[in-house]
Amino acid sequence: MITFSDVRVTYPNGVRGLDGVDLTIPDGEFVVVVGLSGAGKSTLVRTVNGLVPVTSGRLEVDGRRVDGAGRRELRAIRAGVGMIFQSFNLVKRASVLDNVLMGRLHDTPTWRSVLGVPRAADRELAFAALERVGIVEKAYTRASELSGGQQQRVAIARVIAQQAGVVLADEPVASLDPPTANQVLRDLKRIGGELGHTTVVNLHFLDMARRYADRIIGMRAGAVVFDGSAEQADDAV
Ligand code: ADP
Ligand code: ADP
Repeated sequence: MITFSDVRVTYPNGVRGLDGVDLTIPDGEFVVVVGLSGAGKSTLVRTVNGLVPVTSGRLEVDGRRVDGAGRRELRAIRAGVGMIFQSFNLVKRASVLDNVLMGRLHDTPTWRSVLGVPRAADRELAFAALERVGIVEKAYTRASELSGGQQQRVAIARVIAQQAGVVLADEPVASLDPPTANQVLRDLKRIGGELGHTTVVNLHFLDMARRYADRIIGMRAGAVVFDGSAEQADDAV
Protein backbone atom coordinates (compact mmCIF):
# COMPACT_ATOMS: atom_id res chain seq x y z
CA MET A 1 0.00 0.00 0.00
CA ILE A 2 1.12 3.52 -0.82
CA THR A 3 -0.24 6.45 1.18
CA PHE A 4 0.28 10.13 0.40
CA SER A 5 -0.90 12.58 3.08
CA ASP A 6 -0.74 16.24 2.06
CA VAL A 7 2.49 15.62 0.18
CA ARG A 8 4.21 18.69 -1.23
CA VAL A 9 7.34 18.89 -3.33
CA THR A 10 9.14 22.14 -4.03
CA TYR A 11 12.17 21.87 -6.27
CA PRO A 12 15.34 23.82 -5.33
CA ASN A 13 14.53 26.43 -7.99
CA GLY A 14 11.22 27.13 -6.26
CA VAL A 15 9.02 25.28 -8.77
CA ARG A 16 6.20 23.37 -7.12
CA GLY A 17 6.12 19.74 -8.26
CA LEU A 18 3.37 18.49 -5.92
CA ASP A 19 0.89 20.74 -4.19
CA GLY A 20 -0.77 18.81 -1.38
CA VAL A 21 -1.45 15.30 -2.68
CA ASP A 22 -3.67 12.90 -0.71
CA LEU A 23 -3.87 9.39 -2.16
CA THR A 24 -4.14 5.82 -0.99
CA ILE A 25 -3.18 3.07 -3.42
CA PRO A 26 -4.07 -0.40 -2.09
CA ASP A 27 -2.01 -3.52 -2.73
CA GLY A 28 -2.43 -5.05 -6.16
CA GLU A 29 -4.06 -2.06 -7.81
CA PHE A 30 -3.11 -0.97 -11.36
CA VAL A 31 -3.28 2.82 -11.32
CA VAL A 32 -2.67 5.09 -14.29
CA VAL A 33 -1.77 8.73 -13.74
CA VAL A 34 -2.70 11.08 -16.58
CA GLY A 35 -2.20 14.78 -17.14
CA LEU A 36 -0.53 17.28 -19.41
CA SER A 37 3.20 17.78 -19.51
CA GLY A 38 4.30 19.49 -16.30
CA ALA A 39 1.24 18.34 -14.31
CA GLY A 40 3.42 16.51 -11.76
CA LYS A 41 3.03 12.87 -12.87
CA SER A 42 6.72 12.18 -12.91
CA THR A 43 7.27 13.96 -9.60
CA LEU A 44 4.48 11.87 -8.05
CA VAL A 45 5.96 8.49 -9.00
CA ARG A 46 9.52 9.57 -8.23
CA THR A 47 8.64 10.49 -4.67
CA VAL A 48 7.56 6.88 -4.03
CA ASN A 49 11.11 5.51 -4.20
CA GLY A 50 12.76 8.67 -2.89
CA LEU A 51 14.21 9.75 -6.25
CA VAL A 52 12.53 13.10 -5.59
CA PRO A 53 12.52 14.10 -1.90
CA VAL A 54 9.26 15.13 -0.25
CA THR A 55 9.32 18.72 1.03
CA SER A 56 6.41 18.31 3.46
CA GLY A 57 3.66 15.84 4.27
CA ARG A 58 3.78 12.11 4.89
CA LEU A 59 4.45 9.33 2.37
CA GLU A 60 4.38 5.65 3.28
CA VAL A 61 5.19 2.65 1.13
CA ASP A 62 4.34 -0.75 2.57
CA GLY A 63 4.45 0.66 6.08
CA ARG A 64 7.78 2.47 5.64
CA ARG A 65 8.07 6.25 5.82
CA VAL A 66 9.71 7.63 2.67
CA ASP A 67 9.68 11.28 3.76
CA GLY A 68 12.72 11.89 5.90
CA ALA A 69 14.06 8.37 5.35
CA GLY A 70 17.79 7.92 5.86
CA ARG A 71 20.17 6.17 3.50
CA ARG A 72 19.61 2.68 4.93
CA GLU A 73 15.84 3.04 4.99
CA LEU A 74 15.83 4.34 1.43
CA ARG A 75 17.81 1.30 0.32
CA ALA A 76 15.25 -0.98 1.93
CA ILE A 77 12.38 0.93 0.33
CA ARG A 78 14.01 0.88 -3.11
CA ALA A 79 14.57 -2.87 -2.92
CA GLY A 80 10.80 -3.26 -2.84
CA VAL A 81 10.04 -0.71 -5.56
CA GLY A 82 10.81 -1.49 -9.21
CA MET A 83 11.16 1.33 -11.70
CA ILE A 84 10.53 1.44 -15.44
CA PHE A 85 11.48 4.50 -17.51
CA GLN A 86 10.59 5.98 -20.88
CA SER A 87 14.17 5.55 -22.06
CA PHE A 88 14.37 1.91 -20.80
CA ASN A 89 17.58 2.63 -18.81
CA LEU A 90 19.32 -0.59 -19.79
CA VAL A 91 23.07 -1.05 -19.94
CA LYS A 92 23.22 -1.17 -23.71
CA ARG A 93 26.51 -3.01 -24.07
CA ALA A 94 25.48 -5.71 -21.61
CA SER A 95 23.48 -8.78 -22.49
CA VAL A 96 19.77 -9.01 -21.85
CA LEU A 97 20.46 -11.58 -19.15
CA ASP A 98 22.96 -9.34 -17.33
CA ASN A 99 20.50 -6.45 -17.49
CA VAL A 100 17.86 -8.61 -15.84
CA LEU A 101 20.37 -9.84 -13.25
CA MET A 102 20.94 -6.20 -12.29
CA GLY A 103 17.46 -6.35 -10.79
CA ARG A 104 18.98 -8.75 -8.22
CA LEU A 105 21.81 -6.42 -7.16
CA HIS A 106 20.00 -5.12 -4.09
CA ASP A 107 19.94 -8.68 -2.77
CA THR A 108 23.52 -9.61 -3.55
CA PRO A 109 26.70 -8.97 -1.57
CA THR A 110 28.76 -7.73 -4.49
CA TRP A 111 28.27 -6.67 -8.07
CA ARG A 112 30.66 -9.44 -9.10
CA SER A 113 28.62 -12.21 -7.59
CA VAL A 114 25.86 -11.20 -9.97
CA LEU A 115 27.70 -10.31 -13.13
CA GLY A 116 30.87 -12.34 -12.61
CA VAL A 117 29.47 -15.68 -11.59
CA PRO A 118 25.78 -15.27 -10.96
CA ARG A 119 24.28 -17.37 -8.22
CA ALA A 120 22.18 -20.20 -9.61
CA ALA A 121 19.11 -18.85 -7.85
CA ASP A 122 19.59 -15.42 -9.49
CA ARG A 123 19.99 -16.97 -12.92
CA GLU A 124 16.83 -18.97 -12.44
CA LEU A 125 14.90 -15.88 -11.43
CA ALA A 126 16.29 -13.96 -14.41
CA PHE A 127 15.38 -16.67 -16.92
CA ALA A 128 11.92 -17.07 -15.41
CA ALA A 129 11.42 -13.31 -15.73
CA LEU A 130 12.53 -13.36 -19.38
CA GLU A 131 10.11 -16.19 -20.06
CA ARG A 132 7.29 -14.25 -18.49
CA VAL A 133 7.83 -11.33 -20.89
CA GLY A 134 8.34 -13.63 -23.86
CA ILE A 135 11.95 -12.89 -24.84
CA VAL A 136 13.95 -15.65 -23.23
CA GLU A 137 15.49 -16.44 -26.63
CA LYS A 138 17.23 -13.02 -26.47
CA ALA A 139 19.01 -13.76 -23.17
CA TYR A 140 22.52 -13.56 -24.69
CA THR A 141 21.81 -10.70 -27.10
CA ARG A 142 23.20 -7.26 -26.34
CA ALA A 143 20.46 -4.89 -25.16
CA SER A 144 21.49 -2.39 -27.86
CA GLU A 145 20.45 -4.87 -30.56
CA LEU A 146 16.82 -5.03 -29.46
CA SER A 147 13.85 -3.01 -30.69
CA GLY A 148 12.29 -0.45 -28.36
CA GLY A 149 9.46 -2.76 -27.43
CA GLN A 150 11.84 -5.58 -26.67
CA GLN A 151 14.05 -3.28 -24.56
CA GLN A 152 11.08 -2.24 -22.50
CA ARG A 153 10.19 -5.89 -21.95
CA VAL A 154 13.74 -6.45 -20.66
CA ALA A 155 13.15 -3.56 -18.24
CA ILE A 156 9.94 -5.27 -17.11
CA ALA A 157 11.84 -8.54 -16.68
CA ARG A 158 14.41 -6.71 -14.54
CA VAL A 159 11.63 -5.51 -12.24
CA ILE A 160 10.18 -9.04 -12.08
CA ALA A 161 13.60 -10.45 -11.12
CA GLN A 162 13.87 -7.77 -8.44
CA GLN A 163 10.76 -9.33 -6.83
CA ALA A 164 9.49 -5.89 -5.93
CA GLY A 165 5.94 -5.50 -4.67
CA VAL A 166 5.54 -2.01 -6.11
CA VAL A 167 6.20 -1.15 -9.76
CA LEU A 168 6.50 2.45 -10.94
CA ALA A 169 6.48 3.18 -14.65
CA ASP A 170 7.23 6.75 -15.73
CA GLU A 171 5.93 7.23 -19.28
CA PRO A 172 6.96 3.66 -20.16
CA VAL A 173 5.51 3.73 -23.67
CA ALA A 174 6.15 7.33 -24.70
CA SER A 175 8.91 6.37 -27.12
CA LEU A 176 7.11 3.38 -28.66
CA ASP A 177 4.75 3.20 -31.62
CA PRO A 178 1.08 2.65 -30.69
CA PRO A 179 0.85 -1.13 -31.31
CA THR A 180 4.08 -1.75 -29.38
CA ALA A 181 2.93 0.65 -26.66
CA ASN A 182 -0.30 -1.30 -26.26
CA GLN A 183 1.59 -4.57 -26.11
CA VAL A 184 3.91 -3.27 -23.37
CA LEU A 185 0.93 -1.96 -21.35
CA ARG A 186 -0.87 -5.29 -21.79
CA ASP A 187 2.25 -7.08 -20.53
CA LEU A 188 2.58 -4.74 -17.53
CA LYS A 189 -1.07 -5.24 -16.63
CA ARG A 190 -1.01 -9.02 -17.06
CA ILE A 191 2.23 -9.44 -15.10
CA GLY A 192 1.04 -7.08 -12.36
CA GLY A 193 -2.01 -9.30 -12.00
CA GLU A 194 0.00 -12.52 -12.04
CA LEU A 195 2.55 -11.33 -9.48
CA GLY A 196 0.29 -9.12 -7.36
CA HIS A 197 2.24 -5.94 -8.07
CA THR A 198 0.94 -2.57 -6.98
CA THR A 199 1.53 -0.67 -10.21
CA VAL A 200 1.56 3.07 -10.87
CA VAL A 201 1.96 4.05 -14.52
CA ASN A 202 2.21 7.57 -15.94
CA LEU A 203 0.67 8.00 -19.35
CA HIS A 204 0.18 10.91 -21.63
CA PHE A 205 -3.00 9.71 -23.25
CA LEU A 206 -6.34 9.16 -21.59
CA ASP A 207 -7.53 6.62 -24.18
CA MET A 208 -4.70 4.25 -23.25
CA ALA A 209 -5.31 4.86 -19.56
CA ARG A 210 -8.98 3.91 -19.96
CA ARG A 211 -8.06 0.66 -21.64
CA TYR A 212 -5.80 -0.66 -18.86
CA ALA A 213 -6.39 1.19 -15.59
CA ASP A 214 -8.27 -0.16 -12.58
CA ARG A 215 -8.23 3.43 -11.47
CA ILE A 216 -7.29 6.70 -13.15
CA ILE A 217 -5.72 9.64 -11.36
CA GLY A 218 -5.81 12.94 -13.20
CA MET A 219 -3.28 15.61 -12.28
CA ARG A 220 -2.98 19.32 -12.97
CA ALA A 221 -0.49 21.80 -11.51
CA GLY A 222 0.82 19.32 -8.95
CA ALA A 223 -2.62 18.44 -7.62
CA VAL A 224 -4.99 15.48 -8.06
CA VAL A 225 -8.00 16.77 -9.97
CA PHE A 226 -9.65 13.42 -10.82
CA ASP A 227 -9.62 10.06 -9.08
CA GLY A 228 -11.96 7.35 -10.28
CA SER A 229 -12.65 4.38 -12.51
CA ALA A 230 -12.16 4.30 -16.28
CA GLU A 231 -15.96 4.59 -16.70
CA GLN A 232 -16.09 7.66 -14.48
CA ALA A 233 -13.24 9.15 -16.49
CA ASP A 234 -15.41 8.80 -19.60
CA ASP A 235 -18.04 11.00 -18.02
CA ALA A 236 -15.62 13.49 -16.52
CA VAL A 237 -13.54 14.29 -19.58
P1 ADP B 1 4.91 15.62 -15.72
O1 ADP B 1 5.57 14.33 -15.40
O2 ADP B 1 3.42 15.58 -15.52
O3 ADP B 1 5.29 16.17 -17.06
P2 ADP B 1 6.74 16.74 -13.79
O4 ADP B 1 6.51 16.05 -12.51
O5 ADP B 1 7.90 16.36 -14.60
O6 ADP B 1 5.40 16.71 -14.65
O7 ADP B 1 6.87 18.30 -13.50
C1 ADP B 1 6.04 19.02 -12.58
C2 ADP B 1 6.60 20.44 -12.44
O8 ADP B 1 7.86 20.37 -11.80
C3 ADP B 1 6.84 21.14 -13.77
O9 ADP B 1 6.60 22.51 -13.59
C4 ADP B 1 8.31 20.88 -14.01
O10 ADP B 1 8.87 21.89 -14.82
C5 ADP B 1 8.88 20.91 -12.62
N1 ADP B 1 10.08 20.06 -12.46
C6 ADP B 1 10.18 18.75 -12.72
N2 ADP B 1 11.41 18.30 -12.43
C7 ADP B 1 12.11 19.35 -11.98
C8 ADP B 1 13.44 19.55 -11.50
N3 ADP B 1 14.31 18.53 -11.42
N4 ADP B 1 13.81 20.79 -11.12
C9 ADP B 1 12.94 21.81 -11.18
N5 ADP B 1 11.66 21.71 -11.60
C10 ADP B 1 11.25 20.50 -11.99
P1 ADP C 1 8.88 -3.80 -32.25
O1 ADP C 1 9.94 -4.38 -33.10
O2 ADP C 1 7.88 -3.00 -33.02
O3 ADP C 1 9.36 -3.09 -31.03
P2 ADP C 1 8.12 -5.81 -30.36
O4 ADP C 1 9.47 -5.71 -29.81
O5 ADP C 1 6.98 -5.35 -29.52
O6 ADP C 1 8.03 -5.06 -31.75
O7 ADP C 1 7.82 -7.30 -30.76
C1 ADP C 1 8.77 -8.11 -31.38
C2 ADP C 1 8.20 -9.49 -31.54
O8 ADP C 1 7.95 -10.09 -30.25
C3 ADP C 1 6.88 -9.50 -32.27
O9 ADP C 1 6.89 -10.53 -33.21
C4 ADP C 1 5.84 -9.75 -31.21
O10 ADP C 1 4.75 -10.50 -31.71
C5 ADP C 1 6.61 -10.57 -30.19
N1 ADP C 1 6.09 -10.34 -28.84
C6 ADP C 1 5.69 -9.16 -28.35
N2 ADP C 1 5.28 -9.27 -27.07
C7 ADP C 1 5.42 -10.57 -26.73
C8 ADP C 1 5.17 -11.32 -25.54
N3 ADP C 1 4.68 -10.76 -24.43
N4 ADP C 1 5.44 -12.63 -25.56
C9 ADP C 1 5.92 -13.20 -26.67
N5 ADP C 1 6.19 -12.55 -27.81
C10 ADP C 1 5.95 -11.25 -27.86
